Amino acid sequence: MEEIRSLKVINEFGVHARAAGQIVGLAGKYKARLFLAKDGRKVDGSSILSILSLACPKGGEIEARIIGEDAREFMDEVEGLFKNGFGEAGRGQYRPKKKLMKGVPVSPGIILGKAHHLDRSKTKVFPKKLINRREIDREIDRFRQAVDMAKEQIQKFKSNIPEQVKGYAFVLDTHSMIVDDSLLFDSTLKRIRKEKINAEWALEKSVKNIHRLFKKVEDEYIGRRIDDVDSVSERVLRNLVGVEEDSLAGIKEEVIVVAHSLSPCDIVEINVSDVIGILTDVGGQTSHMAIMSQALEIPVVVALDRATDMILDGDLLIVDGNTGDVIINPDADTIISYEDKKKRYNSYKSAVDRVRHLPAETSDGYKITVRANIEFLAEAKAAIDHGAEGIGLYRTEYLYMIQRDLPDEQALFDDYRQIATMVAPNPVTIRTLDIASDRMASDMEASKEDNPALGLRSIRFCLNERKIFRTQLRAILRASVYGNFRLMFPMISGLGQFLEAKRILEGVMRSLDRDGIEYDREIPIGILIEIPSAASIADILAKHTDFFSIGTNDLIQYALAIDRDNEHVAHLYEPFHPAVLRMIHQVVEAGNKEGIDVSLCGEIAGDPLSILVLLSLGLKEFSMSIGSVPLIKKMIRMLPLGEVRDGLKGILHLPTSKKIEGFALKRAKSLVPDIFEEDVFWYRDAGTA
Ligand code: PEP
Ligand code: MG
Repeated sequence: MEEIRSLKVINEFGVHARAAGQIVGLAGKYKARLFLAKDGRKVDGSSILSILSLACPKGGEIEARIIGEDAREFMDEVEGLFKNGFGEAGRGQYRPKKKLMKGVPVSPGIILGKAHHLDRSKTKVFPKKLINRREIDREIDRFRQAVDMAKEQIQKFKSNIPEQVKGYAFVLDTHSMIVDDSLLFDSTLKRIRKEKINAEWALEKSVKNIHRLFKKVEDEYIGRRIDDVDSVSERVLRNLVGVEEDSLAGIKEEVIVVAHSLSPCDIVEINVSDVIGILTDVGGQTSHMAIMSQALEIPVVVALDRATDMILDGDLLIVDGNTGDVIINPDADTIISYEDKKKRYNSYKSAVDRVRHLPAETSDGYKITVRANIEFLAEAKAAIDHGAEGIGLYRTEYLYMIQRDLPDEQALFDDYRQIATMVAPNPVTIRTLDIASDRMASDMEASKEDNPALGLRSIRFCLNERKIFRTQLRAILRASVYGNFRLMFPMISGLGQFLEAKRILEGVMRSLDRDGIEYDREIPIGILIEIPSAASIADILAKHTDFFSIGTNDLIQYALAIDRDNEHVAHLYEPFHPAVLRMIHQVVEAGNKEGIDVSLCGEIAGDPLSILVLLSLGLKEFSMSIGSVPLIKKMIRMLPLGEVRDGLKGILHLPTSKKIEGFALKRAKSLVPDIFEEDVFWYRDAGTA
């Protein structure tokens, strides 16, 4: 069967995205095929982009041809859409205006799809109520029941956790702990009793108090744990009020979820064949939701501020998870250009992914080592999946930050043993506690310091708090027999301090000997070079250590006196500052002279241009954030190391970071143009500019 009709476009804005979407929606219902033609160009009527490419304005004419079963019925419906002005004709109220929003990108990828609102607005609370003495017990019972219910719900999420995010089950355990935490639970009960107020109001007051406490936390990572407190208390509140949660599990078509915020429990419910992206008003790069969503490998942009106000259900969206750009109701040209960008990104990504498990060997045969930096156990698997040849930096602070009691030796051992086993035979460089008391969740008295970055933290803190230090060292040593550990002390500023740390370690080894507990007696002991004084005496330190790892995040901050988290001086944070490069070079030379291993584990290791510069300075081992591993491996495989060294000779004599960057970029473009081509170069860290 064949049906041909000429259709007039009568609606104000022509066949724009939403109108084209309606045609495609119809095409999906029928077996017959629809073709649309204008000015001699014929396109497939089941492709939104093809329809848009006809660029048919109001008053234009389109020839529709349908071939196949039920062609007439299908055509009647198509004609109905045109005649009805796609539901907009004459009314003039529909104006799909293109709008742009910018948020914080937390999971990469580019998608085009339909918005789906998920109601995560705060539960409307009930009038605040004063209660009388007889009502206290009833109110307390209500609260306890709501809390028990929340725990059951969280447990249920945990038992249904999908494979991709299984490693993050501990986040749900943290949520169970938060419900029980005295700051939330006991203090709400106390308020009900003492202030004689209803449970909802008491809970709200407790949460406000926790917010006040968190406001003082400067550390971004810990500060973001307030998101977990919010999502848990919201759950309890919903249970109290008896409001059912709008669930993600019910979504059965391809959509981009738009919500005020999402919790880790929401992420557990996501089915990635339906939810193709996520946008939220609030949130940050280090929230649990953000970290877990990366494991789902769908584009996610957070902190959009007013996404839930600006975006309507059903709006067409472009989401760029690489840049944080969101385009609402894009016009045809924008869609076409993003489709092109998406295609290039996807083919670039698959080229990068193809090499992630191949060795990082330069095109002229030099072996380079690419490892990953991780912060907690769940990331170890992701690191391996991304092709990391071991863990070059395990930051061990997490277990000290999530609970009020200090973790005991057994808890630390369990965590370290699992990592050692998982990564073996590849090595794990485990760094001892790099923290100050103000960042710990325990009740420990925090020292009052005007300048914490220069204060009692890291190895200095550990040398002061020997019991905490010894407990961690014992756990590390006990776990060392399960894999291939290297132990590293952070923030070493001089030899005496390093030798003191080693003496304590030897004492712990003796205590393990006495207890008849096995450990790796040959465990390499190294120094994280991140203070300029240590870089300056690298030749002295090299005689006493098994390896160096250069921590440029802090080295740059201390060398240039720039607080790395202070936005006012961020522009002065220059990784290519000649002083920084000279220090790195000095450490590499000192290490080479003593024949010890030298690696680099600062963020710059994940930046392609920096890698080129660092290779030219003689580095051959790197550890970086997990997401950077595949790209850096791909780039290394394309590089001729001999030519890199020849091409970048003289870099240490250039006077400014700007000159160094310009010089390096020019060489980079001629050596590996594919990687340094503009706009494929997403992984470029703004901090290195
Ligand atoms: C560094 O300082 O470069 C480093 C790797 O450690 P962190 O970022 O944890 O301070
Ligand atoms: Mg550091």
